[in-house]
Amino acid sequence: MTSSTAPLTDPRPRACLQRPANALKEMLENSLDAGATQIIVTVKDGGKALLQIQDNGHGIRKEDLPVLCERHTTSKLRSFEDLEGIQTLGFRGEALASISHVANLTVTTMTAGQPHGWRVAYSDGIMDLAGPKPAAANRGTLISVECLFANIPLRRKALKSAAEENRCLLEIMGAYAVYKAGVSMTCKRQGEARSDLHTLAGASRLDNIRAVFGAAVSKHVLPLELTCGDGAAGAGPGEAADAGVHCEVEGYISNADFSGKRTQMVLFINGRSVECTALKRALEATYAAVLPKAAKPFIFLEVRLPGSHVDVNVHPTKKEVGFLHQEELIEAVRAAVEEKLLSTNSKRMYAQML
Ligand code: ADP
Ligand code: MG
Repeated sequence: MTSSTAPLTDPRPRACLQRPANALKEMLENSLDAGATQIIVTVKDGGKALLQIQDNGHGIRKEDLPVLCERHTTSKLRSFEDLEGIQTLGFRGEALASISHVANLTVTTMTAGQPHGWRVAYSDGIMDLAGPKPAAANRGTLISVECLFANIPLRRKALKSAAEENRCLLEIMGAYAVYKAGVSMTCKRQGEARSDLHTLAGASRLDNIRAVFGAAVSKHVLPLELTCGDGAAGAGPGEAADAGVHCEVEGYISNADFSGKRTQMVLFINGRSVECTALKRALEATYAAVLPKAAKPFIFLEVRLPGSHVDVNVHPTKKEVGFLHQEELIEAVRAAVEEKLLSTNSKRMYAQML
């Protein structure tokens, strides 16, 4: 665990939590970073009363627990170069600290080979004075976030109904379930027998598009793949700042027969769920030329770019991103989507004519 060092005290905005789904996203990313293959989320009152996430990842060592919720405490950065070429789109070491300022946070965790786990509570970034207590546990980490925003009445009031907050939780979890297909994810409301979202270990992305978005979507998607530039995408920090677009894109996009009520776009850039309004608009325009009026597409895209090309500072919640060569990149993706739609559409028309 690296504690605060000079380069890490950068002036970026703090991870900004506005609703339970923001906290869930951060915690999902932590579980996935910890190598979890199973993640179970339990929710009460749309996450306002309880948001609990249990994973079977590598767990947290007891000696790391005292500083876990201090700002800039992260086990994931080794150098300033890491911060510059940040691949993970994270504000390092901010998430748990931020959550502990606005909720009751309890962590129960066990690393491999230990006879028992440890449980400890945090508030305002500080570990409970009593320190970690031995607790029965499975390998992995269970984090409970209770009474979110109880100490910030204005933000608490701004939250939507439990049903609406639950919908947002499922939206973010569904996005990660498709992106990280193979990892089993479950989201359920406390006390309910049936889960609201469930994916199986070893499932494919297409399986999970079906599980999360339904068969009507999965039956009508086409695989999309493209590479721009000379394949430097995903290169590590410190790669040469270069002159052109480099990206690899993989995804599933709905075909010309699919007609959704609203655009459903799931976008991952370098492993993080983000939004890019400009890309969404460009793709909607392309679909508008192919789909009947009022019909909207489903789009799942995973984009890999050199880390230094991504600008995560566009929005404090890190949702909206900008990137270098944005126009060229958007045009490349748009053109690939258009070509895919037109080529499969004309094959279909040809088949109908026969
Ligand atoms: P970051 O993810 O940027 O490092 P966080 O505040 O999200 O910062 O988490 C702080 C640290 O807590 C992580 O670096 C990691 O070491 C540890 N951590 C958090 N959640 C988990 C988890 N589910 N499993 C294992 N370690 C975790
Ligand atoms: Mg994190």
